[in-house]
Amino acid sequence: MLAGRKYKLLLTDEQAAYAEQIGGACRSVWNTGLHQRREYRHRGAWMNYNPQAAELAEAKRDHTWLGEAPSHVLQQTLKDLDAACREHGTFRVNWRSKRRWKPSFRFPAGNHITVERLGKRKARAKLPKLGWVHFRWSRHLDGQVRSATLSRDGRDWFVSFLVEDGKQSPEQHVSGSAVGVDRGVVAAVACSDGTMRGREFTTPGERARYLRLQRQLSRQAKGSKNRQKTKAAMARLKRRERERRADFTAWTGSRLASVHGVVVIEDLSTKNMTSSAKGTVEAPGSRVKQKAGLNRAILDKGWHKLELAVTSAARYTGCRVVKVPAAYTSRRCSQCRSMDPDSRESQAVFRCTTCGHCENADVNAARNVVADGLSVSACGDSPPGGSGKQEPAGTREGLPLHPAA
Ligand SMILES: [Zn+2]
Repeated sequence: MLAGRKYKLLLTDEQAAYAEQIGGACRSVWNTGLHQRREYRHRGAWMNYNPQAAELAEAKRDHTWLGEAPSHVLQQTLKDLDAACREHGTFRVNWRSKRRWKPSFRFPAGNHITVERLGKRKARAKLPKLGWVHFRWSRHLDGQVRSATLSRDGRDWFVSFLVEDGKQSPEQHVSGSAVGVDRGVVAAVACSDGTMRGREFTTPGERARYLRLQRQLSRQAKGSKNRQKTKAAMARLKRRERERRADFTAWTGSRLASVHGVVVIEDLSTKNMTSSAKGTVEAPGSRVKQKAGLNRAILDKGWHKLELAVTSAARYTGCRVVKVPAAYTSRRCSQCRSMDPDSRESQAVFRCTTCGHCENADVNAARNVVADGLSVSACGDSPPGGSGKQEPAGTREGLPLHPAA
C-alpha cells in the first residue's frame, strides 16, 4: 500500500533559498499555465498537458531562473494543474498568490531519490538538483520511496515521502464490532459505545497570547517589520494548534479502525442542511447563528480530517468505513426511533418525549448513526463473507457483523 511519511528538513541557508526559488518557479509555471488554459477556454478551445510541457521546455532555454529548477518538478506542476482543471473546471482552479500560497512541490521519480540514515535521529536524502538534504529521522521509512514532496510551513521546510510499504490490506477485520461516531458538542468525538474523545487544542495562556498579538497587530503599520514579526508569531501559535489537532485526529482514527470492524460516520455534505436545527436549541442570544456557522465550518474541517484518518488507518486493519446521511440523527431517539426536536432537551442531554429514554445527546446521535450505517450496509453492499441478510432494526453495535465462519 502507498503511505506517506513526513519529516522535518534541516536545510542549509543556500538550500532553503534554492527551495524557495523552485517554489517560486512552480508558482509562476502554475499561474502561466492556468492563464493560458483560461485564454483557450474563452475562445472555446482546450489546452492540455502535452503542448504545455513542450512550451515549458522551450521557456526553460530562454529563462535561466526557470532552467535552474528541476525539470521533473516543473512538469509535475503542469500535471497537477491538468488534474485540477479536469476535476474542478478551468475557471474554478485558484491562482497561486505569492502571499497566500505555501510553497510545495514534488519530485515525482522515486528511482532518482536516495535515502540514507546517518544516526539515531538524523538521515539524508539525495534529491535531483537540490543534492543531499538532511532531515530529522522521526520515524521509520518502512518502504520504497515513490516520490518526495517538499513544503514550507512558516519558516520550516518538510519532506513527505510517498512509500510503497509492501503491505496488503486484510480481507477481514479481526473484530466484527461496529461503531458510530458523531461530532460531539462537549467532546470532539462521541462514539455509540458511550465513549467520548476530545482534548483542548490550545492552552489558556496561548489563547491570551493570541488575543494580545491580535491587538498588537491592529496597531502596527501595514508592511512594517514589526507587523511581520507579529504575524509570524501568530502563525506559530496557529501551527501548534493545528499539529495538536492532527495528532488527535490520527490517534482517534487509528484507534477506531483497529478496534472496530465497521466505523460509521456521517456524510458531511448532508449534515450541513440539517444541523441548523441544533442551533435553535441553543440559548437564545444575539449572533448565536453566526457563531454557530463559524464553529461548524471549523468542525467540518476537523471532521473531514478524521474521516481521512479513519479511512487511511482502515486500509491496514480491514475495517470498513460506512458513510450515512446525517439527517435528524440528533433529534431521533435511538431506542424507539421516534422523532421530536423537543427531545433534545439541551446541547448535552437527550430525553425522549415518547419513551423517556435519556442519555448524552451526542452518544444518542452516534447510536443513530451506527444503526443507519448498518441498515445501509445490509441493504446495499453486504459484507464479504457475511450472511448477506441482516436485520436492520435488530442490529446494534457490539453484535458481530460477520458470523464466525
Ligand atoms: Zn424514545
